[in-house]
Amino acid sequence: MRDFSHSTAHLALNTATLGHNMPGAGAGWSPEQTLDACARRGIGGIVFWRPEIEGRAVAIGQYARQVGVKVVGLCRAPFLTGPLSFKNNTEITDDFRKAIDETASLGGSILTIVVGGVEVGTKGVRESLKRVAEHLASVLAYAAQRDVRLALEPLHPMYGGDRSCLTTTRDALDLCDQLADPNIGIAIDVYHVWWDTDFSRQIARAQGRIFGFHLCDWLAHTTDFLLDRGMMGDGVADLKSLRMSVEKEGYTGFCEVEIFSEHNWWKRDPNEVLDIIVERFHTVC
Ligand code: ZN
Repeated sequence: MRDFSHSTAHLALNTATLGHNMPGAGAGWSPEQTLDACARRGIGGIVFWRPEIEGRAVAIGQYARQVGVKVVGLCRAPFLTGPLSFKNNTEITDDFRKAIDETASLGGSILTIVVGGVEVGTKGVRESLKRVAEHLASVLAYAAQRDVRLALEPLHPMYGGDRSCLTTTRDALDLCDQLADPNIGIAIDVYHVWWDTDFSRQIARAQGRIFGFHLCDWLAHTTDFLLDRGMMGDGVADLKSLRMSVEKEGYTGFCEVEIFSEHNWWKRDPNEVLDIIVERFHTVC
């Protein structure tokens, strides 16, 4: 297991942690300000959300390289199924390709995919997962052409209805098996998998297919299932054991801190948030 007690080279900031994925949340730092703040602390990587970089991906990617912060990737592809997705397939495919282009323009290599919920008019997840596989199959060649890898992120089952009919590491790896393409893999977020006693058995199937590892914590008394994620160390997830599991399967990439926290971390000075992230990364992750 890698020793992070003195290094931040493999620490990445997902800008959602500073509120940047929600209009009006956080302190409103520009991508450049955020990159400077990461560079000052030696934070090695960053993951942006699409609204922040819209129309400026190339320039922001260049700035990141100039200050020495690696753009790991982009959040995220459009929902492919469910009540929050675009209404027709052409819109979904066009936006999917646009997200792939934006990732490439930034100089990033990984596009995160949250697949979307249960397809309207259907019950259960099977039909929706079939649709997800079809959508993914239709963009794989394009992703390869742009040198972008697609990371399927299974979400906690509480989001099954509207955001992600893909809810377990098992189902995500089954989908990867089915598509059998080197550009498709999974992203493991501790918020979504910490409870899963089958995780270590499933992740053993993942060799070479773990494209991302996301950090935060699950608060014992969480007040909002979307916007009350905890800072690492403040909750009940066994962070070191989860990291050990992914590293055992060969994961050597970034540990990406992703904390949605409307009433706590988004209200604080981003400098304080980043300092605490660095301290926790050294001590509890
Ligand atoms: Zn995540």
